[in-house]
Amino acid sequence: MEGDAAGARRPMRGSPRRGKRGEGGSAVEPLRIDKRALVRIKPSPRHFILLDTERCDGCGACAVICPMDLWKVREGRARLARDYRRWCLECGSCYLACGRGAVGFDYPPPGTGVTYEKS
Ligand code: SF4
Ligand code: SF4
Repeated sequence: MEGDAAGARRPMRGSPRRGKRGEGGSAVEPLRIDKRALVRIKPSPRHFILLDTERCDGCGACAVICPMDLWKVREGRARLARDYRRWCLECGSCYLACGRGAVGFDYPPPGTGVTYEKS
């Protein structure tokens, strides 16, 4: 990590930011992390997550488990964000969590998708 001209250390891109502290040092705001700033993603040219709406029963497991909040349940059915290819971490959790076999998951083609960088 580089320091600025005065030598002070700056927080990393996407690093956690704590809220103000109240009396006694207790945190008064939750820790917030800009998850989308932690990764670099070259969007896949093709879809790699497919939802079978006939199998989906709207249980919401995909929405609970997705670390990037890319799933929602509306009107009893899961909805995947239209721009998920820009933000998906390819963790496969939605695929694993779906007990109905409604989520099909593949990886993006080589050279596309997520890259993790520690800067
Ligand atoms: S986990 Fe599967 S069945 Fe449940 S809402 Fe998501 S896609 Fe539908
Ligand atoms: S693979 Fe992971 S990040 Fe991508 S939509 Fe599924 S749960 Fe979310």
